[in-house]
Amino acid sequence: MPATRSTARALDRAAALVLERLAEAAEVLLPVECAVCRAPGTALCRACRLLLRRSCARPFEASSAATLLEPPLPVVAAGRYAHGLATCLLALKSAGRTDLVPVLAACLATALHAAAPDWPPGPVLLVPVPTSPAALRRRWFDPVRLLLEDCARRGVLPAGAVVSRGLRHRATGTLPPGPAQKRLGTAGRRTRPSGSMRATAAPGARCVVVDDVLTTGATLGEAARALRAGGAEVVGAVVLAAVRPPAVPLTADSGPAREGPGVHPV
Ligand SMILES: [Zn+2]
Repeated sequence: MPATRSTARALDRAAALVLERLAEAAEVLLPVECAVCRAPGTALCRACRLLLRRSCARPFEASSAATLLEPPLPVVAAGRYAHGLATCLLALKSAGRTDLVPVLAACLATALHAAAPDWPPGPVLLVPVPTSPAALRRRWFDPVRLLLEDCARRGVLPAGAVVSRGLRHRATGTLPPGPAQKRLGTAGRRTRPSGSMRATAAPGARCVVVDDVLTTGATLGEAARALRAGGAEVVGAVVLAAVRPPAVPLTADSGPAREGPGVHPV
C-alpha cells in the first residue's frame, strides 16, 4: 500500500540519518588513522598502501624454512612478516582494525593466485586455520576466515576455489593424551599439539590450508594432519606472511612489480 511504502521509506531515511550521525560520532571519538604511520583520515595512507602492495607483489615458496612442517607441504607466502605487512596484520588481530581487511585480503588473493597453478584441476577447498577458542573470545572474529570471505565476496579467488570451514578446534577436554595436556610454554603453545584440530571437510575433498603467519610450520602441519585424518587430500598451503625470508622465489624475474591477473590492487 502506498501509505505503508511511504512510511517505510521515511523510516529508512531516518535510520540512515541516525547511522550517519553515529558514524560521525565514532569518527570523533575514534578517529581513523593509518595503521602504519598514523597519518589521519584513512585506514592505510597512500604511501603505506604502496609499500604494502610492493611487499606482497612477489609471493614466494616458504616451506623450506618451516622446520616443523612434517610431512613437507608446499607453502606460498604473500610476503615477509615485517614492516607494513606485520603492522597491518597485528592491527587487525590485536586492535580489531577490520578496516584493513580489504588491503590484506588483496595481498592474500595475490598469493592464492601464485599458488593455484600447482593445484590439481577441479574444485579446491580453501580451509582457514581456525582461531583458537581463547583468541576468538578476545577478538570476536576469525581473521583468516574474514580475509578469505572478503576475497570471495570480491570475486578474486582462483577459479574453482571456494572457502570452506573444514577445520575446527577440539574442545580442550577432548584433546588426546600427551604433550597437549602438559603445561606448555609460549613456544610450546605456538606449536599447536597434535590432535588439537579436527576436520569437517568431506572425505576426498581437495584442500588448501590457509593461515596468517608461517613460523615453524607446526600449525600448518597439524591442520594438514587433521584434514588427512578425515580423509581429505591436502594439496598445499597459503599464508599471508612468512617470518623467514624467501628461500625459493616463485619467479626468476627480479624487475619491478607489474599489474597482472594475479596481482590484486591493495
Ligand atoms: Zn601511512
